[in-house]
Amino acid sequence: MNAIGELILVLDAGTTSTRAIVFDRNGAVRATAQRALTQHYPQPGWVEHDPREIWDLTLASARQVVTEAGGADRIAGIGITNQRETVVAWDRQTGEPLHRALVWQDRRTADVCAALREAGHEAGVQETTGLLLDPYFSATKMRWLIENEPAVRAAAATGRLALGTVETWLTFKLTGGAQISDASNASRTSLLPLTGASWDTGLCDFFGVPMAALGEVTDNAGMLGTTLAEHFGAPIAITGMAGDQQAATIGQGCLAPGETKATYGTGAFVLSNMGGAAPKSRHRLLGTVLCQIGGTRSYALEGSVFVAGSLIQWLRDAMGLISSTAETESLARSVPDSGGVVLVPALSGLGAPYWRPDARASITGMSFSTTRAHLVRAALEAMALQTCDLAEAFAGDGARWTSLRIDGGMSANDWIAQDLADMLDLPVERPDFVETTALGAAMLAGYGAGVFASLTEAAAEMRGRVRHFSAELADDVRQARLAAWQAALAER
Ligand code: ADP
Repeated sequence: MNAIGELILVLDAGTTSTRAIVFDRNGAVRATAQRALTQHYPQPGWVEHDPREIWDLTLASARQVVTEAGGADRIAGIGITNQRETVVAWDRQTGEPLHRALVWQDRRTADVCAALREAGHEAGVQETTGLLLDPYFSATKMRWLIENEPAVRAAAATGRLALGTVETWLTFKLTGGAQISDASNASRTSLLPLTGASWDTGLCDFFGVPMAALGEVTDNAGMLGTTLAEHFGAPIAITGMAGDQQAATIGQGCLAPGETKATYGTGAFVLSNMGGAAPKSRHRLLGTVLCQIGGTRSYALEGSVFVAGSLIQWLRDAMGLISSTAETESLARSVPDSGGVVLVPALSGLGAPYWRPDARASITGMSFSTTRAHLVRAALEAMALQTCDLAEAFAGDGARWTSLRIDGGMSANDWIAQDLADMLDLPVERPDFVETTALGAAMLAGYGAGVFASLTEAAAEMRGRVRHFSAELADDVRQARLAAWQAALAER
């Protein structure tokens, strides 16, 4: 089945690293390369990347795996997936960045967002874009660059300014000048109406972003562009693109309304496929574009939790309570419960459904009999408890889960997977191949290149085996844990 031109190259430009992976049409990995990306923290709350470095690492990784896979002719199409919301500003004529990229975690526009919220603008913005007023999203970052960086402002004045998210930057470099933004990434900027085909003049004016600096909004699969021959020895078509969480949703095969995935990495991101109707959350979840094909969109409801795996890193690096993240599993199993300890992991505020940037973490219920194992168990329990809060918000918005598909580095922990099934009282599925973000981009690119006739076929061909976890916990125990969690949250 591996005829020439049937391999798929995925470029995964993540927050901490850039990877290139070559898949075959059965979902097997043929070659892989990864390079770490430098994080710049110029001030507390500011996070930046060097766009040149993102491009250089992406190109180097891609060249390496294309060579390993036998050359550009063997590649049917490229799929791009990327950290979302991060903003790059560059000069359209020279192709050179005008500033470092402002990363999604960057909070420098918190005051601007708070002022807009206080002025009563949030409901209107959410109604149109599905997003809340938070520095997380791209628009206020774009405005900050124009207001604070003379080179960006000068480029805007002469019509040379290009602004875009990471997939836009990469496709500009790959194609030698096309400026395109896929609908899933565009829907994270606050400048794209959920039901509008392109950028909205009113939103651009409101956020102070010149529409002329933005690219063309495109589908997530199809003939999206062609790379310059010089990059890989021959041109390769770019046939799929999606933001990382949307790509993971597709990679988990959540192609029908109601199907839901949760990624547990540094943070946790839950997305439910909502079908063709733009979601309107009443429970502070986000409405977002899941995928646009042939101009037709499907949507997702999204809940983002800021602290997940980073809590375990904190226990290891700042607290010295554990020596490895994997050790948490045996420690949690070594005690029958958390001994009454509840850990609310709001180390950088609370995300969905609370959106309380000011909230701080707490550990309650300790006594002299509390041990390291109880604290670790409470930390792991916090993952399912945060997910239960999201489940309630999703149900309130008409998206009650019937099962949950999990992935991300933390999902490797069997204790967490079982606890999720127990606390949600739902079947939980974990694929053996947890690189669902890259797989989703490969499915889109395979479909876009005509390797598959549909995303459903791509899922059937490329997705591997899954492991099932089913609920075993007595309901009174579940209710008691939920009550203790709510009490700890209320104390905050
Ligand atoms: P990201 O893509 O956000 O960088 P990953 O999906 O690679 O994150 O997941 C890494 C995170 O998962 C780390 O924060 C780490 O603490 C956590 N993690 C990894 N393995 C385990 C484990 N066995 N038990 C608990 N947490 C884990």
